[in-house]
Amino acid sequence: RTAVVLFTRDLRVHDNPALASACANAEQVAPLFVLDPRLQTLSPNRARFLHQSLADLRETLRAKGGDLIVRTGDPVVEAIKLAREVGAEGIALAADVSAYARRREQRLEQECEQHRISLRLFPGTTVLPPGGVQPGGGGGHYKVFSPYYRAWESAKWRDEVATPRTITLPPDVTVGDLPEAPAGDSPAAALGGETEGRRRLETWLQHVGPYDDLHNDMPADGTSRLSPYLRFGCVSPLTVANLARAVDGPGPAAFVRQLGWRDFYYQVTASFPAISTQAYRKSGDGEWRNDDDALKHWQEGTTGVPVVDAGMRQLRAEGWMHNRARLITASFLTKHLGLDWREGVQWFFRFLLDGDVPNNSGNWQWVAGTGNDTKPYRRFNPIRQAERFDPDGVYVRRYVPELKAVEGKAVHQPWRLPEAVRSGLGYPGPLESHRDEAVWLRP
Ligand code: FAD
Repeated sequence: RTAVVLFTRDLRVHDNPALASACANAEQVAPLFVLDPRLQTLSPNRARFLHQSLADLRETLRAKGGDLIVRTGDPVVEAIKLAREVGAEGIALAADVSAYARRREQRLEQECEQHRISLRLFPGTTVLPPGGVQPGGGGGHYKVFSPYYRAWESAKWRDEVATPRTITLPPDVTVGDLPEAPAGDSPAAALGGETEGRRRLETWLQHVGPYDDLHNDMPADGTSRLSPYLRFGCVSPLTVANLARAVDGPGPAAFVRQLGWRDFYYQVTASFPAISTQAYRKSGDGEWRNDDDALKHWQEGTTGVPVVDAGMRQLRAEGWMHNRARLITASFLTKHLGLDWREGVQWFFRFLLDGDVPNNSGNWQWVAGTGNDTKPYRRFNPIRQAERFDPDGVYVRRYVPELKAVEGKAVHQPWRLPEAVRSGLGYPGPLESHRDEAVWLRP
């Protein structure tokens, strides 16, 4: 018996249900990744991280006697082609929720039926599959996080699956080369791959203790930074949750709760696949302004509001941004500049290593006030946020070199500095478009 495992965003051998099942049920396994040119251009940062993750997966599979077969083209066409080439009876795949992924699954199902190949979808992208818990015991998805989280936390999670020890490829299969590594946009981006992801997870478990106190503290950088590895499935969300749950204390519990947020947005997206472009709550989708100049300043990190600029520059430098800074910058775009949240979705999506449809769009809609579990009137005052979560200005000075010489919390309001000091900084004044009405700028 022969099976094809179509890898998508489950780039690991540990706790990979699709791979484990194929290896348990077939003598020969063909692990396949198809580079889809339509996806390669969306984000140079993620294209690079993906490439690194594939190279790592290939090494791991080789060490087990197998290999990673790499093709370029339409994943459905290529998967069927390979299955026929090697005489596979079945294709195994991790289920996913985005509109793109769902279409891919549906097309694959049709093609498999036509060619009499069995298709099996497996869990593994989330801790609990979307639909794993449902409000009132049946039908629909949770719109509010707290009841979802209570159900999620007490639900029976699946058992983790064993890592295959050996993999036997079908004879004479052409494995294909990985194309050259694409250049990313962000010089300080994290390195992709399961090996690196597991290393970081191990280190993180030593540091998760004070997470509850530190996760909003921007200079402390006290979060796991596991999000890109979860995004590409270099680590299993279930493994991460199980290992953190095994550590006592409020820190690990708060961390596991964040994994609950991740699953929450996946089950929302499974029911509402248009989440990237359509407001979940239409009534919250306000009259957004058109202002290319303001948008550009926000994107470039030159709004003149230091904490906003620091966040936007961290995004460009690292392909990652602290969650508190994501909240502040997103609120600034939508509530202070009055620009459309979809602009924010797209800009973040281009740079974030962890950029994915459910979490990016779900969180943007939460901030913009168009989401399911949201408060439309919520707006973050960037100065108060900065003074609370970056009290000495360490985070701002880390990413905005023009302000390096400004000491303490004065860095958060450079417009209050004496004119002689301010004019020497080379840092812009606050954007014209909102200067007058902005409450936080009043002396
Ligand atoms: P930790 O604090 O260590 O949390 C552990 C894990 O929990 C994260 O890796 C992540 O998988 C999950 N998580 C944490 N916070 C959230 C949250 N608010 N919503 C959903 N899951 C969460 N996260 C993404 O993974 N991809 C995105 O594209 C994304 N876009 C965002 C856009 C905006 C406007 C905002 C406000 C948040 C966004 N987030 C996104 C959520 C959050 O900012 C990141 O998951 C987090 O900063 C990742 O860093 P970490 O791994 O150190 O998180």
